[in-house]
Amino acid sequence: MNAPLPQDTAATAPLAFTGKARVALNDPRLRANFRRAMDGLMSKRAAQFADADEWRTLRARGAEARARALAKLPDLLERLERRCAENAITVHWAETTGQANAIVLDLLTAAGAKTVIKGKSMVSEEMHLNAHLAAHGITAIESDLGEYIIQLAGEAPSHIVMPCIHKNKAEIAALFAEHIPGQPYTENVDDLTGAARNALRGAFAAADAGISGVNFAVAETGTLVLIENEGNGRLSTTLPPLHIAVTGIEKVLEFLDDVPPLLSLLPRSATGQPITTYVNMISGPRRPGEKDGPQAVHLVLLDNGRSRVYDDPQLRDTLRCIRCAACLNHCPVYTRVGGHSYSFTYPGPIGKILSPQLEGLDCAGDQPHASSLCGACAEVCPVEIPIPDLLVRLRGEAISPTSRAVKGGGSARSLGDRLGRRLSTAILGQPRLYGLISRLAGRIGDRLPSWLPGLNRWTRVRSKPAFARRSLHALARERGYADE
Ligand code: SF4
Repeated sequence: MNAPLPQDTAATAPLAFTGKARVALNDPRLRANFRRAMDGLMSKRAAQFADADEWRTLRARGAEARARALAKLPDLLERLERRCAENAITVHWAETTGQANAIVLDLLTAAGAKTVIKGKSMVSEEMHLNAHLAAHGITAIESDLGEYIIQLAGEAPSHIVMPCIHKNKAEIAALFAEHIPGQPYTENVDDLTGAARNALRGAFAAADAGISGVNFAVAETGTLVLIENEGNGRLSTTLPPLHIAVTGIEKVLEFLDDVPPLLSLLPRSATGQPITTYVNMISGPRRPGEKDGPQAVHLVLLDNGRSRVYDDPQLRDTLRCIRCAACLNHCPVYTRVGGHSYSFTYPGPIGKILSPQLEGLDCAGDQPHASSLCGACAEVCPVEIPIPDLLVRLRGEAISPTSRAVKGGGSARSLGDRLGRRLSTAILGQPRLYGLISRLAGRIGDRLPSWLPGLNRWTRVRSKPAFARRSLHALARERGYADE
């Protein structure tokens, strides 16, 4: 590829969600781009799961396969390593993203690699791998069309499945005209796709190594399953002489039989497709007599805090995620502010529970609050992750940690929080006092000014609610319901 590659910007310091969200909300083009894309994705997904019984059955199978794999995770990881070794896939363990980067760099340096072609991988984003390689003189070229576009723009992905969903045709046309030599400005989609294809074609053949993510790693057979639509994943993992796959330790499945239900759930939940165009099942490097495939395959298994998540029986459900992004597409917060507001690798509802656990509540503590707790995410999650319950749990952990499960637990505890909690406990624990205060609120609530501190957190962006004149208790008593 001859287009210049801007630096990876994902490693920039995260800023608070609220400030970024406010900027995004005031950007009409961004909101229009998201609204259009998300409406389409929601209706396509709904059409795929029109049969409620089939959805329930399939979803239960998917959730069971993921929960069973997680229940046996340590054993399955060891089994995966043994099976991979039998298949001549070398497994590497990385506790931190720094270690994972060092492993990948060592492998590339030993192979004398200067250019790598990449398939889509959120874990490599988590590692800020491109920036790390660039700092050591190795160029990483993204081959997924969406990733390629945001690499040209010098941005991080704003969506797990569709990284450049925040951009419209005109923005992409301008980027291509600026970065791809000889490419005129055009909004013709076929021409734009063709330009990316031309720019990338040579890069597949010229790359010294291919790097990919992994959708599922099967412990029973030592198989790496990768799904994709463009064929770029297959080219990245087949043409170069070296293939390095990077994945989180949670992506393990016990049996090959667990793959089909998840293959059915993932693309239908993600993009509303019945199945992806390509399903790649990699079971080792090129064997004697075979004409294609890499000469060496390596699998890097990244922990980066996942073991700590795994240790807590409730938080462990987070690790079931198959990164379909259905929760993003249905989240009323994500669909209005977009992925860059979240500052961390994983945006949307899954990011709100995963980022604080991986990065720590002390730096990602605002994420669990970026939710109305409407439950739309949990309703569409194909593996039944109870996201709202986990959001509430993390909000609590930020103030009063119940275990050492979450890094930075208790970091949001302030004098104001403590006093507020004590006051509300005292009021809610004394029915007479509570009744008195609700009656008072009913009388004077409507006269309170909107700017009143506390109330203004609501009134800044919404109308002031009308206070009820009579409490629910009073209404119930009138209708003859007993207190119990
Ligand atoms: S949490 Fe559920 S819906 Fe969201 S990305 Fe993960 S699997 Fe998909």
